[in-house]
Amino acid sequence: MNRVFNFCAGPAALPTAVLERAGLELADWHGKGLSIMEMSHRSADFVAVAEKAEQDLRDLMAIPDNYKVLFMQGGASSQFAMIPLNLANGSGKVDQIVTGQWSKKALAEGRRFADVRVIANTEDNHFTSAPTQSELALNADADYVHYCPNETIGGVAFDYIPATGDVPLVADLSSAILSDTLDVSRFGMIYAGAQKNIGPAGLCVVIIRDDLLGKAQAATPTMFDYKVCADHGSMYNTPPTYSWYLAGLVFEWLKEQGGVAAIAAANHRKASHLYQFIDGHDFYANPVAINNRSIMNVPFTLADSRLDKLFLQQSEAAGLLNLAGHRSVGGMRASIYNAVSEVAVVALTDFMTDFARRHG
Ligand code: PMP
Repeated sequence: MNRVFNFCAGPAALPTAVLERAGLELADWHGKGLSIMEMSHRSADFVAVAEKAEQDLRDLMAIPDNYKVLFMQGGASSQFAMIPLNLANGSGKVDQIVTGQWSKKALAEGRRFADVRVIANTEDNHFTSAPTQSELALNADADYVHYCPNETIGGVAFDYIPATGDVPLVADLSSAILSDTLDVSRFGMIYAGAQKNIGPAGLCVVIIRDDLLGKAQAATPTMFDYKVCADHGSMYNTPPTYSWYLAGLVFEWLKEQGGVAAIAAANHRKASHLYQFIDGHDFYANPVAINNRSIMNVPFTLADSRLDKLFLQQSEAAGLLNLAGHRSVGGMRASIYNAVSEVAVVALTDFMTDFARRHG
């Protein structure tokens, strides 16, 4: 087997050990003579797999008992609509922070179902920083505050959790969940598309405080109602069983690595190595404010953008894949999620050293 180093932003690299185990179990799961994806989602075997995945995630993130964990579909993008439908249920007014393309998409969708106030927006500086706490023009009558702690495209991360008083804080953690330790009790709701740090696409994990359930707007489709989902153990309809199973294998793998604290230490080492390298070479640059640099998504540019194509061709030939920046911004981006090893990041900087020497 010849696995490349995969820096894709999502669907992203999965741990090789997880894929190997899934491969072994594919056609005959635990001697049952059938695949997990051929089983009823209501069978005792699948329900046990599903419940263990939830418990492992609860353990990994130390999710308090008064939070529900939902395994939903429709990606993180569907949450952009589900959130206002379910949570804009008091004043109907909500506060949103915009620090990149994803929180901007959440804003557009939020405006369809709620009276949105943008309480901070960093588009003027091309999304290269996050606002400080004192720059947030918070409103006490908001039904919730929405933000994206880690913007996947710009590589911009908050270095603090906004304090919002009694107003529930809602976070799109798609590209940062399980990457670092986090106090879940600071949030009303956290959600994350699976295809970065959780598992394959097709699943979106929602972690939501009990008291926020059951107040959805009347027009909310049944499938979009968090309470319906919670009351049915995320099986109101057929869930994406294979993605759920594979997420469970990733959670087991994470526990074997020593849990979130251990993977976070590795993630910080990986990110510092890469940022120090970029800052130490005139040939490469990262535009993000130092305090707001993401440990998961590291965008960078070359001194001469005419070399971009060559950089991508040669890095791919060297077994370093998916380093192109998002199509909306260009340049390069290395996504260094949990399953991307320290060895991979060192291989990347070795290649970058060599490339700069040859073309700088
Ligand atoms: N939010 C963030 C922060 C993301 O990175 C992404 C996907 N890259 C999305 C939302 C959208 O996720 P999905 O494709 O699962 O709808």
